[in-house]
Amino acid sequence: MYDVIIVGGGPGGISSLIWCHRLGLKTLLLERREELGGSLFFVNNPIIDYPGLPVVNGQELQKRMFAHVKELGCPYRSGVEVQEFNLREKRLLTNAGEFRAQSLILSLGAIDRRLAVPGEAEMIDRKEVYSASRDKDQFAGKKVAVIGGGDRAVEGALLLAEHGVRVTLIHRRDRLRARKQYVDPVLHHPQIEILTDSVVTEIAGKDRVEGVWVAGQQVDGRPCPPRFVPTDAVFVRIGVEPNSHLLKGQLDLDGDGYVRVNEAGETSVRNVFAVGDLRTRPIFSSVAGSVSQGMTAAKTISFRFETEQEL
Ligand code: NAP
Repeated sequence: MYDVIIVGGGPGGISSLIWCHRLGLKTLLLERREELGGSLFFVNNPIIDYPGLPVVNGQELQKRMFAHVKELGCPYRSGVEVQEFNLREKRLLTNAGEFRAQSLILSLGAIDRRLAVPGEAEMIDRKEVYSASRDKDQFAGKKVAVIGGGDRAVEGALLLAEHGVRVTLIHRRDRLRARKQYVDPVLHHPQIEILTDSVVTEIAGKDRVEGVWVAGQQVDGRPCPPRFVPTDAVFVRIGVEPNSHLLKGQLDLDGDGYVRVNEAGETSVRNVFAVGDLRTRPIFSSVAGSVSQGMTAAKTISFRFETEQEL
């Protein structure tokens, strides 16, 4: 029996682990992958705004956070996947047996949202999934489509264009929602064509991506017939979805599947907390936000231990 079990080893989970351990709680973090780090493994661009850095990419920050965990002797087990949660009883069924705790901190993260159009699953199966920062040089002089209107789509489109890639940025609404810092340079970039009010209906190509079918465009207020946009790659950047499917029915979720929490990060089940990208959609999601949520959950649990005896 642990005081706290943390599930998920991204930045929110790591921060929770460090804080719980240092606050003297009997803690264990479970991570299904072989290494802690979560979404940091997929951040290929520099992390500049986090105080005390910058680092060249998420992998470097992962190394630093992991070294910190080891240096402090924080207890974790990797390669352990929770298959069933019993939140009320704080009981976890995993591939390595059953674990029990008095409190849980869920740091299950989020996964990339899919377009769910014909051709997308095949593209993923063929491993035609790219990162703008990692693969930009591979597409220099070629054409790619970037789909979405948020920070990731617009920042990615700009980065690719600056490295000689011809980009078609396809967004379903009439305006991009990304921050101005990314939108302004994209609007008049000679390497970027922007298709607004445009919905991708299919990713075409048998052995490799050859183009996308786009519907919904208008010219002079009138809808155009679907259009084929030839492209060598498709970057789908349409947000993320919380990894909450195993929790359904046990706690309150919002309409998009995010776990509802209060100010302390506590869910609708007492002594079950959620941190990071899993929980009620923050206005801005960031590593710094997840780290701070881990601290708040850990301190709340510790405070309860000290003041209530019985949780
Ligand atoms: P996002 O901000 O949620 O934007 C998602 C975009 O995809 C929106 O424009 C949305 O359209 C569109 N979309 C959603 N579902 C769609 C669908 N089924 N078909 C077509 N389009 C769809 O997500 P994101 O840009 O992927 O970024 C994820 C998070 O990472 C955000 O919190 C972002 O701020 C953060 N991020 C931060 C930085 C940075 O700070 N440097 C860089 C990159 C990302 P609507 O506009 O119509 O809703």
